[in-house]
Amino acid sequence: MATRQEIIREIDRLNKSIEDTSLRKEEVLLDLGIFIYQKVREGLLNNNEINEKCKPIIGFDHVIYDAKLKVDELKKQMEPIKCSCGATLKPEDRFCGKCGQKVDIPVDNKEYIECEICLSPIDKYSKYCPCCGTLLKR
Ligand SMILES: [Zn+2]
Ligand SMILES: [Zn+2]
Repeated sequence: MATRQEIIREIDRLNKSIEDTSLRKEEVLLDLGIFIYQKVREGLLNNNEINEKCKPIIGFDHVIYDAKLKVDELKKQMEPIKCSCGATLKPEDRFCGKCGQKVDIPVDNKEYIECEICLSPIDKYSKYCPCCGTLLKR
């Protein structure tokens, strides 16, 4: 007969094993989920039930992507604009106050298409959607 002490110790050992193994199982499941999601985005896996389960992820991707773009934009607003002569320019300046050089306003002349999965505007020449990771068909 095992003593009460021994039984308690055995229960503790088993509970620890359950906890450790569950954590490792979760890690593998997470890995599997990412793997499957990637296959879906690349168009290699097309199963209605799986697609349905992936739907919320596209929403999350969108929120993350939009927030990142906004952060970039806000960071840009904080950066001082500099003339090639080193003088700091104000956003409304068209000519540098120090050297008189014309200020070139950077133009965004990229062509955009819409991702058919998440509807984000994306650079026409991208291979993958930068928002949801979908492999873009052309
Ligand atoms: Zn200047
Ligand atoms: Zn997308």
